[in-house]
Amino acid sequence: MPDILATASAAVTISKQILTLSKTIKNAELQHAIADLTLQLADLKLQLAELITENADLNQQLTAKVSAEDLTFRDGFYYKQNDEHPFCPGCYDSHQKRVRLAKQGDFGRNFGKFKCPSCDEFYG
Ligand SMILES: [Zn+2]
Repeated sequence: MPDILATASAAVTISKQILTLSKTIKNAELQHAIADLTLQLADLKLQLAELITENADLNQQLTAKVSAEDLTFRDGFYYKQNDEHPFCPGCYDSHQKRVRLAKQGDFGRNFGKFKCPSCDEFYG
């Protein structure tokens, strides 16, 4: 994917070079067309960058969703099979994030048995 952005950057650079060269020809119509091309290429580069970011986000969500299929929900928490350490139900339900809950010490138990280190919610 990063090669696409490098290609777009190179196209923008080449277009600017052509625009500079066209000024020696002194053809206003050609210069205008090349300037438009340069702007379109720059816009295309921005859109590519946004798509790359969106694609990375979607890949992350998909990976989390696929890997979460091995989770089971019981007694208000998500558990991985053969593992009794619960995951935060709030983080998973709202953002598909798998965050293990931290057991609380004596002081923290006044608020709950577990605390999520990501959303700071207490449970149990
Ligand atoms: Zn959480």
